[in-house]
This record gives sequence, C-alpha cells and structure tokens, in this order.
Amino acid sequence: MTLIIGLTGGIGSGKSTVSRYFSALKVEVVDADIVARQVVAKGQPVLQQIKSHFGKDVLIDGELNRPFLREKIFKDDAQRIWLNSVLHPLINKKIRHDLSLATGKYVLLEAPLLFENNLDDLTNYNIVVDIDPVLQVKRASARDGVSVKNIKAIINKQISRIERIKRADFIIVNNDLSLRDLECRVVDLDKQLRAL
Ligand code: ATP
Repeated sequence: MTLIIGLTGGIGSGKSTVSRYFSALKVEVVDADIVARQVVAKGQPVLQQIKSHFGKDVLIDGELNRPFLREKIFKDDAQRIWLNSVLHPLINKKIRHDLSLATGKYVLLEAPLLFENNLDDLTNYNIVVDIDPVLQVKRASARDGVSVKNIKAIINKQISRIERIKRADFIIVNNDLSLRDLECRVVDLDKQLRAL
C-alpha cells in the first residue's frame, strides 16, 4: 500500500522548495493547487455552471476570468461558499484519483490548506514546514512583491501556526537552514518515510 503523506505549511514557509527536493528523490507529488487549476481549465464542464451563476463575463474566450471571479467572491461570503461547494468536490475527486495512481512507498499531497480544507482526511501522516512569522513575512513578500499587509491578511486566514504544528507528524523547521541544509533535511525525512 502506498502511504499518503500530507505536506503543508503557511504562506512562504518553504513548502514548494521542500516538495521540489522530494521530487528530486523521485517521490511522486500531487499538488492540490495544480489540481485546483486543472478542474477549471478551458473546456471543463463546470465552467458552464459557473457561467450560469456569475454571468458571461466570468469567461474570456472560454477561460476563467480570475480577476472578475475574485472580485465577485472577495467580499461576498455567500458567493464564495457557492463556488467552493461546486469546486471542492471536483478537486477532492481528482486529488483522490491522482493519489490512487501512485505506486511508490509513499506519495506526497502538497496542499497549502491541507488542514483548512480537511484534505488530511486523505493522508496517513502529515509533514508541516514551520517558519518563524517574521521570516515568513519577509520571504513571502520578497518572493511575490506582495505587500506585508496582504501577506499578514493571508496568514490570518490560514490556521494558526500552533494549530498546524499540533496536527503534524513530522516538522521541518525552516528558520536557520540554508537551502543546502533544507535539502539534507528532506533526504533524512525521505529515509524515515521509506522505513515506515
Ligand atoms: P507559498 O505558500 O506562498 O507558495 P511556499 O511555502 O511554497 O510558499 P517557497 O516558495 O518554497 O514557500 O519559499 C518561499 C521563498 O523562500 C522562496 O523564495 C524560497 O526560495 C525561499 N526559501 C525557502 N526556504 C529557504 C531557506 N531555507 N533559505 C533561504 N530561502 C529559502
């Protein structure tokens, strides 16, 4: 049986970097963000349902008009809940399907909102990438050029650092590690996971 290992962490914690190091070790990775984009890719039937609900401007040349949609759901909880109720089951189904194709000792499910969206229902163990909040804001804003205020708003919408750590089976503390050290930590963890 292939074990399913969740990989999560707050914005800018280093999840994607960790995930890349696992991939380099030939570990299979299912990325919830990528699946979330695939289910609304051009031609997907759900786009017609979204169009019936939000109107024709939600599509441009058959592609989702993300800024328009973001604006629609930004301050309107009912619209956001509607959209989630349509998309989450589709995302969940595709994640389950993609995970079921894995054949190795374990597969990673990389999801920024693993706990928030109950995707940990699918996992056997969870890895949390933890980071000091000051460094987190610095790294996240340096990478995306997003304002500190916006980064803090995103952090406040995610579960708290303490809650996330409580739910972790394995923790990677990404504060004082060079990228090389981080890679070594992943190599060690991979050995631990293969031995489970
Ligand atoms: P998001 O949730 O926003 O996608 P993330 O958790 O996937 O973020 P990464 O993109 O992996 O985080 O890392 C954020 C930034 O911090 C990147 O620019 C990455 O190169 C850098 N970074 C991550 N870990 C380290 C480290 N140990 N030393 C130096 N820089 C690092």
